[in-house]
Amino acid sequence: MIVLKIGGSEGINYDLIADDIAALIKAGQPLIVVHGGSSLTNKVAEQLGHPPQFVTSVSGFTSRRTDRRTLEIFEMVYCGQMNKGLVEKLQMRGVNAVGLSGIDGRIWEGPRKDAIKIIQNGRRLVLRDDYTGKVEKVNTDLLQTLLNAGALPVLTPPAISYEGEAINVDGDRAAAATAAAFQAEALVILSNVPGLLEKFPDESSLIRHIPAAKIDQFMSVAEDRMKKKVMGAQEALAQGIGRIVFADGRVAGPVSRALAGEGTVIGQ
Ligand code: ADP
Repeated sequence: MIVLKIGGSEGINYDLIADDIAALIKAGQPLIVVHGGSSLTNKVAEQLGHPPQFVTSVSGFTSRRTDRRTLEIFEMVYCGQMNKGLVEKLQMRGVNAVGLSGIDGRIWEGPRKDAIKIIQNGRRLVLRDDYTGKVEKVNTDLLQTLLNAGALPVLTPPAISYEGEAINVDGDRAAAATAAAFQAEALVILSNVPGLLEKFPDESSLIRHIPAAKIDQFMSVAEDRMKKKVMGAQEALAQGIGRIVFADGRVAGPVSRALAGEGTVIGQ
């Protein structure tokens, strides 16, 4: 099994990715796809008059402020246009893709954070009306049923809380939890950069290999959004995934290239 996370940043080429997925499926490669949708969500949120807000936790991580209205907009984009758009591209290529969010059939389940401690203008604040959390459990039975039926699961946040509420979760970390649940051979994370860059945004400073034992040292190289990916990689390694690849989602054959070792290979 390979778990493929496709980012939601500007520049990612979904047609080239769909071509490659179709080729891999045709060659018999078992696959689960996870995708994001952050940049389109930001645009739609602006258009709907509820502009995105990002908050920084006391531990230095940035995340989307997810009040109820944001959650609705998030679902419109992630579960709507992004998910169905990708499913359509795959169906056009003869892949029987089935698009589901983490709420459906409780595919991704975990705790909702009851309070988020953030730093705003140098002051500590506590948010209590935020719909965010993390994935602790993956419904592998349901996913396996789909796989057995010859379908390709195409998954997207939100996840579901133990109480049954939709919660915004980080897509990279949800993909890591999915890879762990299936003990996947590899977790491939495609974004709009060639991988982890030593001197972001200089693309020639690509870090080609990070041994599992050294992953902690690379947390400081990554800024804001990339930090979540490194954290997802850390979590995947801790749960027995041998290979995580951060690779370029703008090029032809992006998944095959990542599996052949292009990008930042973490592990081994
Ligand atoms: P996606 O939505 O595709 O999952 P993100 O936007 O969350 O991707 O994260 C990728 C982004 O992280 C890059 O576009 C880049 O702006 C940023 N980034 C920060 N630090 C680094 C780094 N050291 N190497 C590569 N990208 C970085």
